[in-house]
Amino acid sequence: MAGLSILTNRTFEWLQEKGLCSPATVAALIALGFQRLTTIQLHTLPRLLSESSTFIHARTGSGKTLAFLIPTIERLKAMGFKKSHGVGALIISPTRELAQQIALVLQPLAEAHGFSSQTLTGGTKLKDEDLKEGNVLVVGTPGRLTDALTGCNKTHLLVSSLRILILDEADRLLDNGSHTQQLRTIYSALPQEKVQKILVSATVTPGCTQLAKEIFETKFSFIGVEEKASSTTAQVKQNYISVSTSERTSMLVTVLQTLRKKKVIVFFNSCHSVKFHSQVLSHFKLPVLHCMGQEKQRRRSNIYAKFLALERGILLTTAMAERGWDIPGVHWIIQYDPPHKPEGYIHRVGRTGRGEGHVGRALLFLRPEENHFVEVLKNMNVEIVRLEFQGDLKDVQNKVSSLVAENVEIKQIARLAFKKFVRAYQCHDRKIFNIHTLDINEVSRAFGFMKPPVELGRLK
Ligand code: ADP
Ligand code: MG
Repeated sequence: MAGLSILTNRTFEWLQEKGLCSPATVAALIALGFQRLTTIQLHTLPRLLSESSTFIHARTGSGKTLAFLIPTIERLKAMGFKKSHGVGALIISPTRELAQQIALVLQPLAEAHGFSSQTLTGGTKLKDEDLKEGNVLVVGTPGRLTDALTGCNKTHLLVSSLRILILDEADRLLDNGSHTQQLRTIYSALPQEKVQKILVSATVTPGCTQLAKEIFETKFSFIGVEEKASSTTAQVKQNYISVSTSERTSMLVTVLQTLRKKKVIVFFNSCHSVKFHSQVLSHFKLPVLHCMGQEKQRRRSNIYAKFLALERGILLTTAMAERGWDIPGVHWIIQYDPPHKPEGYIHRVGRTGRGEGHVGRALLFLRPEENHFVEVLKNMNVEIVRLEFQGDLKDVQNKVSSLVAENVEIKQIARLAFKKFVRAYQCHDRKIFNIHTLDINEVSRAFGFMKPPVELGRLK
């Protein structure tokens, strides 16, 4: 499949000629290997330079990070922002890995103007020295920023002169969950005037725009480059496969056996399911890495860095990896469990086929009772086609059952994974994934049991 270009004909030098970008920023961008602007970057720049509060809505992998970073740096430079003013721009990301990734893109651009930047993410204790003065740009996660701004420490971030507030993956931050609570707290610690707000995402829900209006008391103008197009990229060929409940694990093993030479991310809806499948796949001599939100930060960072560098390999993960991750060279995205929200599908698929000229494949596992989800996706302009599987899964299925029966440790993990699978299923939108269509005996077979290993009570 040929990759569709995300780039325009406009070069960064052209931006400079038009007075839209300073020579220092352009030189830094060229040194990083960027030559031409992507469509969203071209559309966004003049608008953001005009200081208006804006919602950037463009598909995954289209270059939104630079689209908000370039004008941010340029505005701070133009207003003569200095270290002594404190923090000039605050960027909030829902996950630690995405915050680190944004910081990496930001650093060279900031340094080109003598601005220092800092990342504030959780997982370790916040110390006073973490809140060093003089960082003009700060990237952080909601929990850590709440601590840094609301006095869990003696030192606070100096934000009285803040001019720009950016929410990357804004609809995730504004989904009315714990992030949104933290966001309200953070916002109440910021100056209420003269702050340009920039919201960014590949998906926008009415609930999120309503909340944004309410929290920030601001009207946002929208920038979207392809109104009718899907939020997923045309560079990703998307398929679904209909798999009976009991055969899901054996199907995963079988599919991954054919993708040994590829770089693959597999999404699950529970950490226990990640652990169980990691054990099973290892027994089938498929080397896998796994990364989950619950883990210690050091391990989480190590695995992330390891997978980043791999040319081929399999990463099993959860929704934590759904948003923003820009991992090079991912060939395949497999959604073993469907996402809790349809937007989740778009973000997961968006981990492949990113940037200029890259293509990818995506495969969604659906039980026959769940095929209605395909219609939901098609209504979101997702082009997804059914893939037929011709083969026999019995042999693999028997091996999984023996493994669970004979290995006490795996049996223990399988029992928990089975239970959590059902619990996670109950969190789905009932209109799309109805728990009452789930045959519990069949589910237990997918986890290697002949019958349910634990009593689940009545499913409501
Ligand atoms: P998004 O936030 O829209 O999902 P990113 O900002 O993470 O996308 O960018 C996706 C990929 O495209 C990254 O690997 C990035 O380096 C690359 N990219 C961004 N802008 C350009 C550009 N102007 N030229 C070439 N590659 C780019
Ligand atoms: Mg992004």
